[in-house]
Amino acid sequence: MMKFAVSSKGNPVSDTLKSRIQTYLLDFGLECDEEEPDIVISVGGDGTLLYAFHKYSSRLDKTAFVGVHTGHLGFYADWVPDEIEKLVIAIAKTPFQIVEYPVLEVIVRYNDGAKEARYLALNECTIKSIEGTLVTDVEIKGELFETFRGDGLCLSTPSGSTAYNKALGGAIIHPSIRAIQLAEMASINNRVFRTVGSPLILPEHHTCVIKPLNDVHFQVAVDHLTLLHKDVKSIQCRVANENVRFARFRPFPFWKRVQDSFIGKGE
Ligand code: NAD
Repeated sequence: MMKFAVSSKGNPVSDTLKSRIQTYLLDFGLECDEEEPDIVISVGGDGTLLYAFHKYSSRLDKTAFVGVHTGHLGFYADWVPDEIEKLVIAIAKTPFQIVEYPVLEVIVRYNDGAKEARYLALNECTIKSIEGTLVTDVEIKGELFETFRGDGLCLSTPSGSTAYNKALGGAIIHPSIRAIQLAEMASINNRVFRTVGSPLILPEHHTCVIKPLNDVHFQVAVDHLTLLHKDVKSIQCRVANENVRFARFRPFPFWKRVQDSFIGKGE
């Protein structure tokens, strides 16, 4: 029997919708299982789906996600509350289709020999200094590529390329392309300091390692979660072996979502 979980943004509209979805699915004979769901229905916005992704990130091969938005159209949350009945019937009655998107693996290593920390990001990882300019070496495939000085670096997934990465002038990458993108935040470029200045798109297996040069304390954000990392030796980013799996019940092509979100229908 299929097991489901519903996660809500926590506002009244989303909570009401969450109970309706739960009631419907239980009526259809599905089992509610918060710990080991086969499908997670996220109700709220993209932030709610990011939260759900992290809650179940240790079982991405077993849990599929679907997002309902109670605010504006989301990239991950693309169902509207009016379609709930349709969605619930689809979940209950049909073996659903799965689309898989790549995610980003981030490994933070420390100087003091502390155990490394591993994260998976659905959107991106951003690296900033706690105070002043971030100064780091950027290695690609084990070779020094550049020394970066500036506000920070953003390593994003293809599905996250429409989020923070886009605001940094990064390209939008179709999620069928297994890659990560490195985008700069306000790099210092003059006759002394030089960075490439363009976003870079790295294929699978091309690992990018960020190594501190002066400061070793960093503010590292993985999606919505920002953590302070002290005594950092390196931050390694690459396409993860794991994928995120979305349950698809109707076609809603990526480029259509990009158009709906950023261009609209016009006058
Ligand atoms: P939030 O509430 O600040 O929302 C950020 C916005 O980003 C929301 O409108 C959300 O719909 C949108 N968003 C999230 N993922 C997206 C995606 N893959 N494509 C297009 N839009 C997307 O924060 P939150 O809800 O906790 O989301 C965290 C995300 O916010 C981070 O992963 C980062 O991508 C984004 N962010 C963006 C900027 C920026 O654009 N300058 C700055 C900080 C964080």
